[in-house]
Amino acid sequence: MVRVVLSNREGNTVSSPPYAAGQSERFSTDELRELNGRFEKTEPLEIIRWAAEAFGAAGVGGGGLVMTSSFGADSMCTVHLATRVIPDIPIVLINTGYLFAETIRFMEEMRSRFNLNVREYHTHNDPIVWLSVNGETDPRVRNNRDACCAANKNSVMDRAMKELSPTAWIRGVRGDQTEDRAKSEIVQWFPRYNAWAVSPILRWTSRDVFQYMKKHDLPHHPLWEKGYVSIGCNPATCTRPITAGEDERAGRWAGSDKKECGINLDMGSNI
Ligand code: SF4
Repeated sequence: MVRVVLSNREGNTVSSPPYAAGQSERFSTDELRELNGRFEKTEPLEIIRWAAEAFGAAGVGGGGLVMTSSFGADSMCTVHLATRVIPDIPIVLINTGYLFAETIRFMEEMRSRFNLNVREYHTHNDPIVWLSVNGETDPRVRNNRDACCAANKNSVMDRAMKELSPTAWIRGVRGDQTEDRAKSEIVQWFPRYNAWAVSPILRWTSRDVFQYMKKHDLPHHPLWEKGYVSIGCNPATCTRPITAGEDERAGRWAGSDKKECGINLDMGSNI
């Protein structure tokens, strides 16, 4: 049996209920509700400390924690938080073949500067061939974004999670980004990946993230200064800079209903 001690935002010490080791049954519904209720007011670093104790530190090929990062605009916030607790945590980057060159350069700089254990997973599709056989005639435009995300992002994420088989994965989603993310819990079971999802900054705002990055002197993605506050792939239909007053996710799949690439949705790869 395990009991984890935490400090919440008010500085009060609280402890989790004891729980038995397991996988999806690790927490009862009541335990999970109590845990998530407590985490609503717990600092992200403490949530990650809890996760490291609860799920085991970095692991590859069966158990332990991994994290995902797009190495996007403010991704270094969650990467920094996680690596303060687990310095060698595997960091999964999904390379769709359509990432900005700046993203790869930024990832390499961060990998070198912070000694990050980045695990880059590539699509098995040739990016040029995939466009031509799927009728995408202009590489700057994606007409069928759901098909492209399914083939080049979700299937790669599914492969990565199957290969790494973590018990849990840390992700940097925030509730104020999309409706689906707002409905998420800080700790929740993800059948799709057969793993727990831990979202330590789910209740943070973009202002909280900015302040954390400033305090720790963390760099933003180089395109952030050009108005790209949420960064995915390079087609203009997938990522564009935003203008003053626009929502921070307005530049993602602009002009469509699409809000997510799908890897943070528990609905399989056919997104
Ligand atoms: S974000 Fe755009 S380019 Fe990237 S996988 Fe999805 S549709 Fe394809």
